[in-house]
Amino acid sequence: MNLFHRVSRAVRLTAVAALISASVLGGAALAATSYRVKSGDTLSGIAVRAGVTVAQLRAANPALRDADSVQAGRVLTLPGRVLPATRYRVKEGENLTVIAQRVGLTLTQLVRANPNYAGGKPVWVGAVIQIPARTVAARPVAARTGTTATVRPAAIRVDPVAPASSGAWLWPIAGHRFVSSDYGSRVIDGVRELHYGIDIVAPTGTLVRAARSGRVLESRPDFDRGWGWTVVMQHPDGWITRYAHLSANLVKQGELVVRGQPVGKVGNTGRSTGPHLHFGTYLRWVPRNPLSLY
Ligand SMILES: [Zn+2]
Repeated sequence: MNLFHRVSRAVRLTAVAALISASVLGGAALAATSYRVKSGDTLSGIAVRAGVTVAQLRAANPALRDADSVQAGRVLTLPGRVLPATRYRVKEGENLTVIAQRVGLTLTQLVRANPNYAGGKPVWVGAVIQIPARTVAARPVAARTGTTATVRPAAIRVDPVAPASSGAWLWPIAGHRFVSSDYGSRVIDGVRELHYGIDIVAPTGTLVRAARSGRVLESRPDFDRGWGWTVVMQHPDGWITRYAHLSANLVKQGELVVRGQPVGKVGNTGRSTGPHLHFGTYLRWVPRNPLSLY
């Protein structure tokens, strides 16, 4: 390779890199939304509810200081969420346009990732299509709810099996924020059902940590109800947490567990279509949206 070739190759690579970063930034900028901070909000709480990391939130708002607290009334830019590439099985009544819309892509982008369907070729039910990585808008950040406000005093009570500072809820999987299925009504295989928890995507084997200190109520396989290997914890103020679809359980029934202690590993057991943690929160067995607690 002579000097000219080397230089032109370097120029081409730079141009490609610039194009890639421009398109990624462009996507993120397009997907950016904003949120007006309410009193009691924290940066980490807003990040969890928006489905982004605190670092991404800071990067999108360079004027923020290092503290976790932000002034009420300030308007934050919510960066787009980068969703990983995945595969999708086509269901009855769907076509590429519908699927593209649902996953946050344009039809052109989806066809580019699935060139077999270029030129308007039909997709069949059951076909598996590739969904490329993409940037979508942050989840709309709802204000912390009244429910949460009534819960907060209880959440800061001194916890008998942990240091007093550990009343706050810990996100159960460090570094993994992508929620593939929210709390509430959802449709699976054409059947509407209520999803009493959230599904957090993470690789098999990732440690799942107790969101708060408490006692293990259940640690067992529960395939009858679709949970697979599951751990249920009872916390001192009436809250209950469920961790499901685990590949391994790391605690025993009756054991006292402190906040942050690993209780299991992410898996794909029970009624599950890929490695993820189902995280459910209940107050005296009444289901509550886990995202309202962060
Ligand atoms: Zn779930």
